[in-house]
This record gives sequence, structure tokens and C-alpha cells, in this order.
Amino acid sequence: YGDYNQKIDYVFKIVLIGDSAVGKSQLLSRFARNEFSLDSKATIGVEFQTKTLIIDQKTVKAQIWDTAGQERYRAVTSAYYRGAVGAMLVYDLTKRQSFDHMARWLEELRGHADKNIVIMLIGNKCDLGSLRAVPIEDAQEFAERENLFFMETSALESTNVETAFMRILKEIYQIVG
Ligand code: GDP
Ligand code: MG
Repeated sequence: YGDYNQKIDYVFKIVLIGDSAVGKSQLLSRFARNEFSLDSKATIGVEFQTKTLIIDQKTVKAQIWDTAGQERYRAVTSAYYRGAVGAMLVYDLTKRQSFDHMARWLEELRGHADKNIVIMLIGNKCDLGSLRAVPIEDAQEFAERENLFFMETSALESTNVETAFMRILKEIYQIVG
């Protein structure tokens, strides 16, 4: 850190999609800044955050885009998807509806994005296990059928957040790098 002359080998654009309030912005701030807020307001203004890391001795800058409150179906513009090499489809595992909407978010993503895009399904808020409304088996089955990577995370407790982002970045690197 602090080496501003660092040479960047790759920039990977990753987009976050999914219903409002599933935790997209908190996953991003946890990963990029190791910060979490319980009363996060609807995302304002910030288009993306970056984090630079090393993969296979190469310097990779992850540029992660967050929807600025455009989570209604078809409100996300094609500019958002343009150039993305990875996507995280996020649902809240305590909200069945947010999981049921994954199919149409996926359809929308596949309609806009590059066909080689790496997609990861994320069941967030796994710290709220007693309120679980989406069995892990349902998500695994959907992920397998649709050829997605899958992980459950908690932005609140930091569970699997780093692991999930590193996994998708390494998969992208395998394809692009
Ligand atoms: P977004 O609309 O998808 O960007 O969702 P936010 O990131 O703004 O999060 C919505 C709400 O869920 C906020 O109150 C967050 O504090 C909360 N939240 C986000 N991630 C988690 C998590 O992993 N566990 C719990 N318990 N709450 C979370
Ligand atoms: Mg948000």
C-alpha cells in the first residue's frame, strides 16, 4: 500500500446486481474499505470502488460497480454492464423474494453482458441464520443449473466476503489473464 507508482497489469470491472436492500453496497464497502454500516442509506452517487491486489504475481485492479438505487427491473442501464468481466448476483437469504428475482436479474445480465462474463451468485446476510428463508440447497441447485459460482456471505460479520471477491477475480484472471 502507498506505492502510487505501482504498475497495473489488469483492470477487471465487476458489477453488483440484485434487489434493493440485499446488501450490495455493504458487501462492496466491506471488501474495498473493510467498513460496514447497519443503517446504510440508499446508495448515493458512488459509481464504483476499486481495490488493487496481486493475483499470480500480477497487479490486478478490481473496479467494482454498485447500482445507485436503480434496482428496479430494467432500470439498470446498459452502460452499467458495458465492459464488465464479472458479475455478482446478490440476494438476501432471509428474503425469499430477492432469491426468486435472481432468474430475471440473470436474464437481464445475459442480455446485456459479454457472453464470457463470470457470474457468482451470493446469498448475503448469513449471520441471520435463524431468519433464513432460502435453503442453501435451493441456491446450489439454481447455481448449478445456470452455471454460476455460489457462496453465502455476511457483510456484517465479514464472512466469505474477501473469499467471494477473490474467487471471482481468480476465475476472471483464468479467462482474461
Ligand atoms: P443494497 O440496497 O443492496 O445496496 O443494500 P445495503 O448494502 O444498503 O444494505 C441494506 C441493509 O442491510 C442495511 O441496513 C445493511 O446494514 C444491511 N446489511 C447488509 N449486509 C448485511 C449482512 O451481511 N448482515 C446483516 N445482518 N445486515 C446486512
Ligand atoms: Mg446500495
